[in-house]
Amino acid sequence: MTDTSRQATFILQQTYGYPQFRGEQEAIIAHVASGGHAFVLMPTGGGKSLCYQIPSLMRPGVGIIVSPLIALMQDQVAAMQQLGIKAAAIHSGIESGEIGYIRRQLQENALDMLYVAPERLLMDDFLTLLDSTRIALFAIDEAHCVSQWGHDFRPHYTQLSLLAERFPNVPRIAMTATADAPTRKDIIERLQLKQGRHFVAGFDRPNIHYSILPRNNARQQLLQFIREKHAEDSGIVYCHSRGKTEETAAWLKEQGITALAYHAGMDSEARTRHQQRFLQEENIVMAATIAFGMGIHKPDVRFVAHMSIPKNIEAYYQETGRAGRDGLPASAIMFYGMGDAALQRSFIDDSTAPEPQKHIERQKLSALLGLCEAAGCRRQIMLNYFGDSGAPCGHCDNCNSAPETFDGTESARKALSCVYRTGQRFGAKYAIDVLIGKPDERMRQFGHDKVSTFGIGKEHSAQEWQSIFRQLVARHFLKVDSMGHGGLSITPEGFAFLKEKQNLQLRRITVKRKGLAQEKKYSSETQAPSDTGMFHALKAERLRLAKAQNLPPYVIFHDKTLHEMASQKPSSVAALRGISGVGEQKIRLYGEQFLAIIRQYAEETA
Ligand code: ADP
Ligand code: ZN
Repeated sequence: MTDTSRQATFILQQTYGYPQFRGEQEAIIAHVASGGHAFVLMPTGGGKSLCYQIPSLMRPGVGIIVSPLIALMQDQVAAMQQLGIKAAAIHSGIESGEIGYIRRQLQENALDMLYVAPERLLMDDFLTLLDSTRIALFAIDEAHCVSQWGHDFRPHYTQLSLLAERFPNVPRIAMTATADAPTRKDIIERLQLKQGRHFVAGFDRPNIHYSILPRNNARQQLLQFIREKHAEDSGIVYCHSRGKTEETAAWLKEQGITALAYHAGMDSEARTRHQQRFLQEENIVMAATIAFGMGIHKPDVRFVAHMSIPKNIEAYYQETGRAGRDGLPASAIMFYGMGDAALQRSFIDDSTAPEPQKHIERQKLSALLGLCEAAGCRRQIMLNYFGDSGAPCGHCDNCNSAPETFDGTESARKALSCVYRTGQRFGAKYAIDVLIGKPDERMRQFGHDKVSTFGIGKEHSAQEWQSIFRQLVARHFLKVDSMGHGGLSITPEGFAFLKEKQNLQLRRITVKRKGLAQEKKYSSETQAPSDTGMFHALKAERLRLAKAQNLPPYVIFHDKTLHEMASQKPSSVAALRGISGVGEQKIRLYGEQFLAIIRQYAEETA
């Protein structure tokens, strides 16, 4: 072990209380601590923060961390302070008196780390102050914000290229979890990291269980999922509209679940309050539009549910990635219906993007629909999409209960012909009524009760036909118009299928209850077996300590640490040191309190 590695490991164990590094952390830290530049692509929850925090502590001077979101900075600073690290933040929410104090601390070299919003960093007087400050490194968090390709472009981020020019000898480390190639390229160019080392980890989030279900009664499906799997957990429910977030939150509340809404149309005071409650409370559900989530580092979000399809696979990966940052089992569940495709398509069609861009967006949407209707491993499909390979994961709905498939050639032909015979302008429900021979006034008026496909599909129920039509849309044999009426028409691929007489395997719709039960079993197996009673007692103590200091509970200890305490039941300070996530400062601050709970609980149940 080199001296650098030894020092890094010492800090990891003493300050953070973690026994060992994960993945490439050690290599990244050694490289940056020795003055190198780095580009780091690591999935959410992979442990990017330590990659800049430990080198900041190792190198002389202050580590400057550029971060786009205030909530995130506050959280990180609170967590650092709990570890005994001298950290501060400068952003628009900090009063000028306090900024003055922080500036003096900078001049006196009294800070280990300073989090700063990009627009503050770029101010002339701040840069001048930095000219005379000893800087350990620049860390650029959420670095995809420099890219117009990224999902969260921030114009100020592009000006960060001046860091390389003005402070050429200070190491720069840029970090992101965003997978796509154009974004990566942009980051490396803008921040001048070509000469640095690039660390690209795989994209897998093994602790997340993925499942995707056809939507029939969204609210009941959601409720069943929460009650069966996450009754005592926090989670995010993504809805496609502002109205839906409020309806969903109100409805969950009626069902006895603590739920809040969040969307960009709320006034900023209410938004901040809801976000703050989500961070600080346990067992709370946020029904939100995608305006919520970026920079939410609540590590114990146990599930992310999508009430309709997201924009594409990148967005899905990003949004579901907010679950299980702490590495404990978490779930991602999506409920989707055929109308979703039409809605997303209309967003693309109506956008002001140039046509080639729209073309790409449509392709991405069909890749997502393919994922929804896939019969194979969900994770494998997503990882393939990002250029990673792997075997079926054994930890998604399709792996847990392989969907049955059937020869759907004949059914598909019937469905396509029916769409053709009825003039390619009606929705699936209408076509299905024609297929199963269920005429109504409108059908008679158009004479569609007389077409050759009337009543030829009695072998399937209406629900089965729904599934067949969804799969035909997903395979792009049929396309849904984007006018909002859901009218179906046959694509060139659909006509080719009719002409070339290809065989087609389709998945049979299955009732998913079995999948849920199996999934539950898997989660409890992967979780350290811990004494539930004691875990709850420890959790209560953590909440009490957190409330007293107005801090989010996870800043005191993560669930993972409490689980370990509840299974190992340490009875001394020395034994407590052996628990992952218990560093020296935490022993000083909370050691006695938690040991007392463990002792007391052990006596009561002895
Ligand atoms: P990211 O920024 O990549 O999403 P974080 O830096 O927030 O991830 O780390 C995710 C979680 O993993 C945090 O709770 C962090 O404390 C924990 N963690 C990071 N590195 C280690 C490690 N070597 N051992 C144990 N836990 C770790
Ligand atoms: Zn799988």
